[in-house]
Amino acid sequence: MLLDGKNSAKEYEDSLRLKIDKIKEKSGRAPHLTVIMVGNNEASKTYVSSKKKACLRVGMTSDIKYLDESIKEDELIALIESLNKNDDIDGILVQLPLPKHINESLVVNTVDPLKDVDGLTILNAGKVFTKTGGVAPATPKGIMMLLEKYNINVCGMHAVVVGRSNLVGLPIAKLLNDSDATVTLCHRQTRHLSTFTKSADLLVVAVGKKDMITKDMVKPGAIVIDVGINRMDGKLYGDVSSEVSSIASYFTPVPGGVGPMTINALLHNLLELYEVRHDC
Ligand code: NDP
Repeated sequence: MLLDGKNSAKEYEDSLRLKIDKIKEKSGRAPHLTVIMVGNNEASKTYVSSKKKACLRVGMTSDIKYLDESIKEDELIALIESLNKNDDIDGILVQLPLPKHINESLVVNTVDPLKDVDGLTILNAGKVFTKTGGVAPATPKGIMMLLEKYNINVCGMHAVVVGRSNLVGLPIAKLLNDSDATVTLCHRQTRHLSTFTKSADLLVVAVGKKDMITKDMVKPGAIVIDVGINRMDGKLYGDVSSEVSSIASYFTPVPGGVGPMTINALLHNLLELYEVRHDC
């Protein structure tokens, strides 16, 4: 069965729109997201534009600051510091990757954790990892929202996550563990990867390699979440081969699976940050 991220996201947006209308009525303004985009990466440009469009669809506001590839690190930091102080901005998102001459971690951690809509600051990551609140990164959060939407309870399942980035693999492993799945985290140095993937009740793949998971690596009846986005000849592909859909109990398509839920979770995080800052 298809885990339809596109339609689930649309339904969530409908409910969010009502909440935003109420907020606007009460406070006179909607939550605002500022996105910082450095350089000309075509994929990043598409992502930032879809994030802005999603904000507008639900009645939130958003602006994108397009900055030249050659911007100096201290200039970028000064800009973020000024956005941190601006009370009309509720969320700040630095689109990654940044050019090589800029220290990504330093820049990301300049964002005020109370405006860190992507949940990438050390403080938010620490809070999520110690279960003391905080904002979870949008993609893992979006995956959990999609599972919830389809009433999939992961308690007791063996969840195998392939990929361990701070953005996706590591936090989704943590969130699945918090939901009482038994989690195995695999990466480049994992020996006999298919031994693990084949024993998964729930398989999450976040690597960035087209067709790296084939049918023979998946247990029939498993739930398969494909996070990968691979662009080839103007088309998008996931990390999981299309033949896997014939044996999975549930699977996410690419595009239309995890991608729209990531944007959904971003809107969710923005609203949550707005509510915390405005004591709603
Ligand atoms: P990273 O490159 O940061 O991480 C990739 C991970 O895959 C690493 O942990 C790496 O292991 C692991 N890996 C690489 N090769 C193998 C292998 N042969 N076997 C096992 N593990 C391997 O990528 P991200 O986590 O940022 O993104 C992963 C994918 O998800 C990309 O395609 C990206 O475009 C997509 N993505 C999609 C989103 C969406 O909204 N749908 C959002 C964010 C990302 P090691 O740590 O050992 O190097």
